[in-house]
Amino acid sequence: MLGNLGRSLSKTMKKLAGMTIVDEEVVREVIKDIQRALIQSDVNVKLVFKLSKSIENRALNEEPPRGITPKEHIIRIVYEEMVKLVGEKAQELSIDEKPYRILFLGLQGSGKTTTIGKLARHLRRRGFTVGVVCTDTWRPAAFEQLKQYTEGQDIDVYGDPQNRDAVDLARKGLEEFQKKDVIIFDTAGRHKEEKDLLNEMEELSDVVKPHEAILVIDGTIGQQAREQALAFREATDIGSIIVTKLDGSAKGGGALSAVAEIGAPIKFIGTGERIEDLEVFDPERFISRLLGMGDLRSLLEKVEEVSEEDISEESLDAILSGRFTLKDMRVQFEMMGKMGPLQQIMKMLPGMGKLPKDASKMTEETIKRYLIIMDSMTDEELEKPDIIKHSRIRRIARGSGTRNEDVKDLLKYYKVTKKAMKGLGRRKLGGPMGQLMRQFMR
Ligand code: GDP
Repeated sequence: MLGNLGRSLSKTMKKLAGMTIVDEEVVREVIKDIQRALIQSDVNVKLVFKLSKSIENRALNEEPPRGITPKEHIIRIVYEEMVKLVGEKAQELSIDEKPYRILFLGLQGSGKTTTIGKLARHLRRRGFTVGVVCTDTWRPAAFEQLKQYTEGQDIDVYGDPQNRDAVDLARKGLEEFQKKDVIIFDTAGRHKEEKDLLNEMEELSDVVKPHEAILVIDGTIGQQAREQALAFREATDIGSIIVTKLDGSAKGGGALSAVAEIGAPIKFIGTGERIEDLEVFDPERFISRLLGMGDLRSLLEKVEEVSEEDISEESLDAILSGRFTLKDMRVQFEMMGKMGPLQQIMKMLPGMGKLPKDASKMTEETIKRYLIIMDSMTDEELEKPDIIKHSRIRRIARGSGTRNEDVKDLLKYYKVTKKAMKGLGRRKLGGPMGQLMRQFMR
């Protein structure tokens, strides 16, 4: 969907997810990639600038919530700001009165007739009885088109190609379909002058008294959607908007963001020419798909669950201030164990699936081995790892059925980690284990 926009955004997110270090430079690079993609999709430059500033401010100043790595934090910020760009919450079409009257508006060619067919089917399949009234006196074929489009769907269509009076048609249609749950009114999309068209809208609106006026906008016009929506809004109360032709449209991002900016809710989007190509528009779902985020959300939830359960404020403070003992490290390893096979976790992160197989396999085994080794240590050794020297190493190795080298590796890893956290800050912690540690550190 949305052609290149989706492709370039998900590429950016994958790149971000695959990075070991996430610092200021990375944040700026990610923002630049996003800017480029959005501008190519005809998103208004001012909106792009506003979005970039928000991402930058939040990424550089906001503390990541507990249990979330800096990288995940930035992915989340990008996601949240993108969701805001297209309207935040899903706005449902709720049929709360009968007959629920919907007036469809839109310029000719916007996809209005097609979308009426799609929406009628959508509602019929949800159990509502639906009548469609064709008031388009300028295009006699519109009536035929509607009938064809809704054929076999148990949807009634009212029209009269001989009648040239749109308001009269609306009145008669209204009478005809009094018993339906929903009546959809198709209106003409073309007039000699735009002013005439808008006048007719007003007259029709007076007769139909719609519960909802839906404006259909062609997504391929990009940010011009803003002017179009504003012009219609002056003539009638637009309740909501349907943006069509988002399948493969290069400018769809521009259209969606422009409409969201003026505060008109987008309730559906058209994603193809077939009658089933209508989707309820949910900004959150839409953006996560656009960013190719896959199961990121469930991963984040998993991380949050585990960390809330297991990390006490105390141990977190200890870790962050550099008072990092082997006991703290053991807590982390145990959490990794609870999260399930590492490879599975990594697969949930975009881009992480491509990690060399050996890297994650090695890490999983290493964690297990390190846990076994730590089981053979005394409390004192876990609290003060510095006392572990030659004879203790030999004893621990024997006790855990491992080699002296394994114990030394563990101690080496512990020292590097402790130093990295204290001195360099956790963002600079490298290597596959560092990558893992960051999953669990703030
Ligand atoms: P109207 O003049 O506004 O009633 O527009 P129509 O419903 O006749 O549609 C105009 C053209 O746009 C037709 O060829 C439709 O098949 C096409 N169309 C409508 N919606 C979509 C959509 O979501 N995706 C694509 N690709 N084409 C669409």
